Amino acid sequence: MSLSFVDLGLAPNLLKAVQETGYVNPTPIQAGAIPHVLAGKDLLGIAQTGTGKTAAFALPILDRLLRLPPPRVNNPRPALARAKPTRCLVLTPTRELALQVAESFKTYGKHTSFSVAVIFGGVGQRPQEDALRRGVDVLVACPGRLLDLFNQGFVDLSALQVFVLDEADRMLDMGFIHDIKKIVAQIPRLRQTLFFSATMPGEIRALAGGLLHQPETVSVTPVSSTVDRIDQAVYHLSVNAKQPLLHHLLADPAWNKVLVFTRTKHGADRVVKNLLRDDIQAAAIHGNKSQNARVKAIEDFRSGKIRVLVASDIAARGLDIDAVTHVVNFEVPNEPETYVHRIGRTGRAGAAGSAVSFVAGEERAYLKDIERMIRKNVPVLNVPTNLPVLAAPVEPDRPAFAHRGRGAPQGRPAGGRPAFGGTNRGAPRHGFHKRSDRGGGSGNGGAR
Ligand code: AMP
Repeated sequence: MSLSFVDLGLAPNLLKAVQETGYVNPTPIQAGAIPHVLAGKDLLGIAQTGTGKTAAFALPILDRLLRLPPPRVNNPRPALARAKPTRCLVLTPTRELALQVAESFKTYGKHTSFSVAVIFGGVGQRPQEDALRRGVDVLVACPGRLLDLFNQGFVDLSALQVFVLDEADRMLDMGFIHDIKKIVAQIPRLRQTLFFSATMPGEIRALAGGLLHQPETVSVTPVSSTVDRIDQAVYHLSVNAKQPLLHHLLADPAWNKVLVFTRTKHGADRVVKNLLRDDIQAAAIHGNKSQNARVKAIEDFRSGKIRVLVASDIAARGLDIDAVTHVVNFEVPNEPETYVHRIGRTGRAGAAGSAVSFVAGEERAYLKDIERMIRKNVPVLNVPTNLPVLAAPVEPDRPAFAHRGRGAPQGRPAGGRPAFGGTNRGAPRHGFHKRSDRGGGSGNGGAR
């Protein structure tokens, strides 16, 4: 029988809130972390967003705050003379995450009397000052604005009981290390510290080592759950071969709901244009598209009207489409987490899924990082030898001509026939053909 939230021994007020959210069973990070945090231990949590990590710290922290004696109100800072001191500080790298984390504390703590406030830059500081003046039990903050407010005397961290560093790897990427150190210098040495990071490079390990005292470690890399279920492969190829390879793969009718990721909006548009020229129904979603266009594209993809949806990472965030048969990394992301997010779009709800990555030039280094994170080497597939190669990256409005092998010089039209483009309407559907296919018109797609 699987563990339930009741088994974790959380306070009734918190269990009630959990039940109201509809969660039944704790996720692995929650099952692993909650008992340690309840026991007052420091924690090193290796988990990324999406694993349920917020509740993994918010729930037991609220439980601890219910049980620990509150610090006395004796504030030396004039601005805070009558305010209760902050008991828990959560540092996050982005305002979006800060808002989400604060929201979670409010949700899980709704049957308690704890106050929660969130602090980040880029907005007026007045409402944040006001909240601090009233007194805040749980403060969720981005480092820069927190330091500003601290230096102006609005924040009292002298009685902190629990300190959380969330998404530590991203914090370091964003250059927050000095701010973090300044903040840590202001909090009591005797405290409980929870440290979360999706990855654990040496720098992060060193930071964790300096902050944590005899920590317990709970690791739920997404690898085990999602990534292992997905068939992954890579193709090593030149940039010019990417679009032809995509068309070649799409000649297989089993590729019927295909999500393609590109790095840029422009790149997404270009891929779509070239697919459409080859009569492969496709649409792009990215930040430059109107909300209506995006909704329509997603609907058409969902219903099967279009086979291929080309997306930028931001546009694909939160995209929940069942039965995506294949994910294509047209460009390899430079963050391993992004790779995991992307390929997690297939293989949903226990279904099998496939993901292929097109790796060219500097993307090899990105692939290495990915393989390190997912702790396995992704199998390499051979690029078909009869694949037409484009002479130059395909421009949106210029048909490309090229053919490799069989004597056709690279970068020249193969027998004058466009690899794909507006002029081959009568040609077999996918547009790529062995020279021997020419004029054959088999109608069932290109070279395999
Ligand atoms: P997080 O990793 O904290 O960003 O959480 C990812 C998502 O999982 C959020 O939308 C949570 O609301 C949801 N979630 C967290 N814990 C559970 C749970 N035990 N059961 C179901 N969903 C959960």
